[in-house]
Amino acid sequence: MSTEIRFDAIVVGSGFGGAVTAARLAEAGWKVLVLERGRRWLPQDMPRGPGDDWFYDVDEPHKQNGWLDYRWFGDMSVAMGAGVGGGSLIYGNVSIIPPRTTFDKHWPAAINYDALQPHYETVGKILNIQEMPLEQVPKRFDAMKKGAAAIGASSKFQLVPLAVTFDPRWDRNAPDPYNDDKSHKFINAQGREQGTCNHCGFCCSGCHLKAKNTLDLNYLAIAEDHGADIRPLHVVNSVERLADGYRVHAIHVDGGKSRDISFTASKVILSAGSLGSTEILLRSRDEKKYLPQISKKLGEGWSSNGDFLTFSSHKEEMLPTRSPTISCAINFLDGDGYEGARIFVEDGALGDVPVAYFGHALMSARKWLDAGWYKNLLNKLIRQLGRLNTAEHTIAWFAQSVDASDGRLCLKKSWAHFGRLRLHLDWDIKKSEDNFKKVNELHKKLARANDPVSITTLPTWTLLRDLTTPHPLGGCRMADSQEQGVVDHRGEVFGYPGLYVADGAIIPFALGINPSRTIAALAERNVAIMLAEAGKA
Ligand SMILES: Cc1cc2nc3c(=O)[nH]c(=O)nc-3n(C[C@H](O)[C@H](O)[C@H](O)COP(=O)(O)OP(=O)(O)OC[C@H]3O[C@@H](n4cnc5c(N)ncnc54)[C@H](O)[C@@H]3O)c2cc1C
Repeated sequence: MSTEIRFDAIVVGSGFGGAVTAARLAEAGWKVLVLERGRRWLPQDMPRGPGDDWFYDVDEPHKQNGWLDYRWFGDMSVAMGAGVGGGSLIYGNVSIIPPRTTFDKHWPAAINYDALQPHYETVGKILNIQEMPLEQVPKRFDAMKKGAAAIGASSKFQLVPLAVTFDPRWDRNAPDPYNDDKSHKFINAQGREQGTCNHCGFCCSGCHLKAKNTLDLNYLAIAEDHGADIRPLHVVNSVERLADGYRVHAIHVDGGKSRDISFTASKVILSAGSLGSTEILLRSRDEKKYLPQISKKLGEGWSSNGDFLTFSSHKEEMLPTRSPTISCAINFLDGDGYEGARIFVEDGALGDVPVAYFGHALMSARKWLDAGWYKNLLNKLIRQLGRLNTAEHTIAWFAQSVDASDGRLCLKKSWAHFGRLRLHLDWDIKKSEDNFKKVNELHKKLARANDPVSITTLPTWTLLRDLTTPHPLGGCRMADSQEQGVVDHRGEVFGYPGLYVADGAIIPFALGINPSRTIAALAERNVAIMLAEAGKA
């Protein structure tokens, strides 16, 4: 039976995969609908203090649809953005091309470094990628450089490309350098107003100056200028196959309430991120039974991208709450890596507001947690955050690396056999543990080169082997066959023509480096193929 198909394409999610796809389809004249679970954030609404809308609650999005979706799965926690612009709103701005060797193994035959280069270039241009001017680099940069020299890795030290607009006139030694009046307004290539960076340090809690070249200011601007209809606060649950396309089932949350709503399109592109797209396909296959033929590999091959954080405290001020989140890196991804492990270490900053917020929250929690078995762990964490708050002498050594990429996402009932099916992550540290030990060891070596007062590995790791990642990857792996993965090299779901995944869920293995540029480049590649095949390019 034929259905009235209302859109040429529905894109679910407006992060790196979704924004690129929506822009290119709309530019080609397609009627595009973008469904995004989060809000459209305006500078005046970005969270700043303890009472603000920091968190997104997947169980009650109608009540709480804030900035950060922080998901705790026991041994692994995942941090993600929620809003029009997806992860670009919250991310640390690093937009980097991985080394050639990244594509040597685990990828479909058609995907390789050379094939992706033109798309990496395009993404770099649209996101207006640039390096921080050398005259503006923070203290952390010098510490990283010194650390690299101390371990004989000076040749591996580099500035990182950032999606931030810098003003060469900005001067740290000028009076009140971090004041908003040090930012200068300009109109970007997509006709949107932005401001230049004043190093205020609010990158991850929302750049109110629009110095961050977030997706709402470029790719999504292109999409909307070409007629794409972007609807925030629409949470997609499942996708149903129709004779001539797909029906997308969602809830629209507004004013504390939610209501069911559905839309139809010839093509559907899931870009809800590693967790989001995998969950939508799991619900469509296992709960609703709409898409029973999806590969058995769905949910498998999930990776934390080997992310690991170690803190060190120094006599000298490091100002971790100022300057863009990351400025430079030491690259151990090529060759023999670091003692066989492939690692990319960056100088992590900590926005002053999140530090103040979490410090405050933990201090309050301490009162009622004092009696718990985790008292020591929490006290250590609180002490560390307290130091960060007052001393400003801390460096957060932040690495990505190549873990075993053997996590598995699935649906499970909340309480044994009762309750609603919820997304669950099986993560076993066994095959990745050596890798993380080497990362921690490397962090400590780099810190020691800078006369540390103390070095702190998070007790969540030392005591429990628990980790947190802001870089979830996989779940709908790309592969050459349905036996190996969920989507083909074009991002199309095996067995379901016209249904695609375009986001971090399709990355088949840990990249060991910040993933957003690769996710966007793959989306550029795959949407170009989709348009060519549809004869509408
Ligand atoms: C604090 C932090 C710092 C980071 N720093 C960096 C960095 O410096 N460089 C880098 O490369 N990466 C960084 N990342 C990671 C980066 O943000 C992600 O890798 C990237 O955003 C993933 O792109 P994506 O398209 O897969 O998904 P996302 O960008 O996460 O987009 C998915 C979108 O889908 C929406 N969505 C999810 N579920 C649904 C649903 N059911 N219905 C409708 N919409 C839905 C989400 O709200 C979101 O907008 C950082 C992440 C965090 C949290």
